Order: sequence, then C-alpha cells, then structure tokens
Amino acid sequence: MKTVYVDNNATTRVAPEVFEAMTPFLTELYGNPSSMYSFAGQVGRHLSDARQHVADLLNAAPEEIIFTSCGTESDSTAIRAAIESQPDKRHIMTSRVEHPAVKNLFEHLARQGWQVSYVPVDAKGRLDMDYFHDHLREDTALVSLMWANNETGVLFPVEEIAAELNARGVLFHTDAIQAVGKIPMDMQKVGVDMLALSGHKLHAPKGIGALYVRKGTKFAPFIIGGHQEHGRRGGTENVASIVGLGRACQLAGENLAEENQRVKALRDKLEQGLLEQVPLAAVNGDASRRLPNTTSIGFEYVEGEAILLMMDQYGICASSGSACTSGSLEPSHVLRAMGVPFTSAHGSIRFSLSIYNSEEEMDHIITHLPPIIARLREMSPYYQEARKSGAA
Ligand code: PLP
Repeated sequence: MKTVYVDNNATTRVAPEVFEAMTPFLTELYGNPSSMYSFAGQVGRHLSDARQHVADLLNAAPEEIIFTSCGTESDSTAIRAAIESQPDKRHIMTSRVEHPAVKNLFEHLARQGWQVSYVPVDAKGRLDMDYFHDHLREDTALVSLMWANNETGVLFPVEEIAAELNARGVLFHTDAIQAVGKIPMDMQKVGVDMLALSGHKLHAPKGIGALYVRKGTKFAPFIIGGHQEHGRRGGTENVASIVGLGRACQLAGENLAEENQRVKALRDKLEQGLLEQVPLAAVNGDASRRLPNTTSIGFEYVEGEAILLMMDQYGICASSGSACTSGSLEPSHVLRAMGVPFTSAHGSIRFSLSIYNSEEEMDHIITHLPPIIARLREMSPYYQEARKSGAA
C-alpha cells in the first residue's frame, strides 16, 4: 500500500538533494572544523557556506545565524538569553497557543517567579492585539510569539508586533519553526530580534536547528562550552546536518514562490473536497491568513484518534491535534484556546502537505475519508443523540 504522507508539520522527508549534500561529511570529510590542518579546513568552508544559505533564506547576515541541535533548543536559547541578559526585568509575554517548546518553558519560568502574560486568541486563532498592547510593561524583558501555528497554520502579525516592540525596546523572539521555507521572510523588513527554525520541518534531517540573533541583540549562551559558534553555542558542530540544513534552505528559497503555490492549490483542493462531502465539518482557524500547506478540519461527533486509525488502513498519515500531544485524548490546548466546541475539537485532524504531495494523493484522501467519518458517526452515541435532538 502506498503511503500518503500529509503530516509534514510533524516532520518532513529529507530531500534527496539534502541527503546527497550531507553524504561526504558522513564518510570521507570527517575532520573537526576546529582543527588546524587543511583536511579539516575544507570542512569549515562548507560550514560557512551552509550558514550563508540559512542567512539568505531569511535575508540576514551569516554572523546572525547560530546552529543548534533542534527547534526546541533554539527556542530555549532565545528565551533564556533574553531573561539572563536583563536580570532587572521580571515580566515576559507569550500566547495561549504556542508549541510546547515555548509553552512549557514559560510555565517553568512562571513557577520560578517570572510574571507571565498569556495573549489570548479569538475563535479563528487570531491574536488579541489589544491584549498584547495593553499588557506590555516597563519591565517586560521578552515577548515570544510564534510566526505560524503548528496546528492550524494561522499566521500572527509578526511585522506589526515587531514594530511595537522595537519602538518600546522590548526583545522579540519568534518561533518560526513552521513558517520558515513556507512563506517569504525578510529580517531587514521585520524587526525580529531572535527567530527559531528547525531542519526537519523543511526537508533537512531531525536534530539540527538554527537561531537567528539580530546583530547587537543582548545574548547569553545557553550551552556553555567550547568556542564554537563564536562562543554562542558550545559543542563540536554537527557538520553533516548543518550542511544538510544549508542545502534545504537553498532549496526552500528556490521553491518558495512556485512550489508553495502548487502546495496551496493541493491543500485547497483537499479542504474543499472534504468540506463538500462531509456534513458537520469546518476549518479550524483563519483560512485567509495561514500557511499554504496546512488545514485543520474539525469533524463533529467523531474521535480524532479513531479517524487516524481508520485512515492508516488506507496509508494516510495525518495528525490529530499537534504531533507532540497525539496519544493524549485531551483536545489540544490550541483548539481549546480558540474555544472550538468540544464535539468538533475532539474530531479535529491536521493535514499538512509538502512539495512531495500530488493531486492523486489528495483524491485518495477525498475518496476514503468521507466514508470513514460516516461509519464512525453511525457508531457514535453522541452523534445518534444529536440527531435525535435535532442538533446534527
Ligand atoms: N515549535 C513549533 C511551532 C513546532 O512545530 C515544533 C515541532 O513540532 C517545535 C517548536 C520543536 O521543534 P524540534 O522538533 O526541532 O525541537
């Protein structure tokens, strides 16, 4: 059975070009880039090229890029650097819908005594900008707001947020892990101070990330050790993966305009096909401002986990809630923050596409999913009850 993989916000396949670029560094080019001899020096040059490619995708300078081990490390580094470098400021701000990489760290910091404001979102997952403006304080050390939500794909108005924070001299970190490579980004235009990205969301391997730190931003390293990354992140560089990330960023830059239009058209076809055929289904989040590859659809009166299991029989890989919370039957904190009704939050499925998806695959899902939902509803006591009472 063919696998139809539409869970690219969880992770992506490594692009063949990325794999090819990495291979020499897992075989013959194994030198430590810090060593003095020329055998290792050539490795160092490839590191510099990779740094340049990552910077180019963001329209940043290579010195502003620090390689890390993953997106979570990039987020943690940024947040901890911001508070450590401003010990007098005790207030920090984030949103109600961040990924656990940010959410759980903020909860940890709150337990340690930092005062935290959580910006709410509306029913479409849009940030409450009034709350954001009203809760900034003189002692706000950092605001951390994601660029794109991993579950719904909804985009936050990062440019507007950055303008306000720059004017007030408050550090701004954005978790752009789902956005990088999917939408254009220009660090010369958007006043972000720190931006986290992760390789495995854009066709590089797992276990490699990067943090953009705007020149002049106060910074304190999270991993203290050797002089690597100009003393900003200790540890011998993961050369092969860094080269892979550089190549993936190059490819993403080349594909950004054309391929993402194609991905968006596939996503729209899938979404429309499902909404036309399945009654009592709706898109979660602001459909007019979201990533081109993501749709989250709530199917009322069915259990997301049951849908996933039945789709699996047709080779379809998607996700209910966020990848990191699947396995738990609680509706995700994102859908809860949006106030998505319980009956629909439980049956919400995230489809996230990539450039490797095809029209044929969308047809496969549109053919097999509607009968799955119908079958599950026939078995659902909630649906039967809702039918009797006229609610469904
Ligand atoms: N932030 C967001 C928005 C994500 O989607 C993810 C991964 O799902 C992460 C952070 C964590 O990234 P990593 O898996 O590279 O640690």
